Amino acid sequence: MAKDVICGMKVSENTDLKSNFQGKTYYFCSSHCKAEFDKNPLKYTR
Ligand SMILES: [Zn+2]
Repeated sequence: MAKDVICGMKVSENTDLKSNFQGKTYYFCSSHCKAEFDKNPLKYTR
């Protein structure tokens, strides 16, 4: 399981809702969370 860094939910890694940032893959519970991450990834990876 991975953690959605936007809302803190546990999410399956078996999803298309993911983004790569600085060599790491981040997974999301919804397209809303993914869009939020893509808008400002630095805010959520520090
Ligand atoms: Zn989420």
